[in-house]
Amino acid sequence: MDSSIKNTYYCTLGLDERHDEFLRNSMDELFRHLSDSPMGFDCPFHELVIEHRTILSDVLEERNDIFEFFALSLSKIRKKVRQISRLFILCPTESKIAYLAKKECPNAVWGFSNTQVSATYSLNNKYIVWHELLHLFEVDDCHCGPEKPGPTCELTNCIMQYAPTPQTVGEWPFLCQKNIKRIQSWSKNDRVDVKDLN
Ligand SMILES: [Zn+2]
Ligand SMILES: [Zn+2]
Repeated sequence: MDSSIKNTYYCTLGLDERHDEFLRNSMDELFRHLSDSPMGFDCPFHELVIEHRTILSDVLEERNDIFEFFALSLSKIRKKVRQISRLFILCPTESKIAYLAKKECPNAVWGFSNTQVSATYSLNNKYIVWHELLHLFEVDDCHCGPEKPGPTCELTNCIMQYAPTPQTVGEWPFLCQKNIKRIQSWSKNDRVDVKDLN
């Protein structure tokens, strides 16, 4: 695997195979959209194998802070999967991850992300999955919370609005120009960083 490319790993935690399949299909579909022109995004998504998911449940058991859980999970998985750059987790609404995230940020109703790890605990809505996932690639919100749900950009069906649904977003394209630029520069910048390190 080319180590100069940012690899995003994803998995469900505490959910059944139906959700595995939902997540797999959602990831594949978004990747198809992003890799098409004009973006030509080519940082691949991979499913985290089951044996590495136990790292997440073990860390979750011993930590009571969402940032510690994110940081420690990523560093432990990196020992097994060296090329991991970003991690996306889908888990139940009543999971400990959701509890810790909402304790940190009461507005995090569906999911919570830092720059490297994102957890979503709203099930069966691929638009929420995509919205939270896109935050990992430095894509910005186009809303100012529930009072100003947006989209605050030029695109009326932008996925970065508050609480995106099939009705408010619909078919691709659903990313505004500002965020297309952000995702393009995110994927390019990484290569430069890695090259410099070599
Ligand atoms: Zn957001
Ligand atoms: Zn937007």
